[in-house]
Amino acid sequence: MRSDIIRELNAEYDRQRAINAQEETLRREKAAVLCPEIPRLEAERDQLIFGGIRGVLTGRELTDDIPARMDVINRRIRSLLLQNGLAEDYLEPVYSCRKCRDTGYCGEPVKEMCDCFRTKFFTRLYQRMGLGSAQEQTFERFDPDVFPDTPMEGRGFSQRDVMQMYLKRCRDWAENYPDNDRRTVVFMGQSGLGKTYLMHCMTKRLLEKGVNALLISAFSFLDTARRAYFSGKTEDMDTLLDADVLLIDDMGSEPLMENITIVQWFNLINERQTRGKATVVTTNLMENELRERYTERVASRLLNNEAMVLHFIGEDVRRRTSP
Ligand SMILES: [Zn+2]
Repeated sequence: MRSDIIRELNAEYDRQRAINAQEETLRREKAAVLCPEIPRLEAERDQLIFGGIRGVLTGRELTDDIPARMDVINRRIRSLLLQNGLAEDYLEPVYSCRKCRDTGYCGEPVKEMCDCFRTKFFTRLYQRMGLGSAQEQTFERFDPDVFPDTPMEGRGFSQRDVMQMYLKRCRDWAENYPDNDRRTVVFMGQSGLGKTYLMHCMTKRLLEKGVNALLISAFSFLDTARRAYFSGKTEDMDTLLDADVLLIDDMGSEPLMENITIVQWFNLINERQTRGKATVVTTNLMENELRERYTERVASRLLNNEAMVLHFIGEDVRRRTSP
């Protein structure tokens, strides 16, 4: 998916450069029509630059006054442009992004994505992964204050305390990746408690770090597994197995299909754990429900001392804040 987007963007940047070059030609023509002195001055300037280069190449010393003469010509061009009602930088190169000159990359000697390219890249990546916009659902935007700060019944802490702690744990986990002690992460609790939100934040942070992270719903995982099971084509399953971090939302919402669901979950989790890959799962099910639905074999892969299990408790804030 990443390389597809990069290819697309590279092609768009090529097109943009061609459009800008065309625009430069049109502007040059327009300026020449309005003021024939301008092309003459430009030709003179070209001659000066060319003469200077030729001088260097043939070992002759540069005449000192070239920069000064260039400056005179440039100033004359700028004032002629203004006199003809055009902007003084009308004949400067046209760039949509000056920083990378519409190449999408900057830096020497190592070229890196320009900010303009990076923003477009992540916007598309998030879109295609169903993650919403880059501004939504990020650790920075996550506001524990939307959760009540009164101590929960029978406990000495509030829902807000819990969410503040989970926000930190999730952010640390994503930022420290791949140096995590616990490679399996499980978010448990009813819907509306922020599980999916935090999972999206984690996915974005991992993607920004360049980690091969993949977010899918439990439903589409099962669908992929089922298609592989019946067709024998395993490419899509391999993608799920190969992702360095696989984040699966809403385990338990997918249909329970005989001979498929449980086996596929077991194979996926077991295989990923054996390979040392990280898997993050959210579920609305309680521990006993998870055991009941998926058998002890699957549940014990998720709920053991090696895993980071976060219990989301409290009230549904969406229900509370919605009118
Ligand atoms: Zn740029």
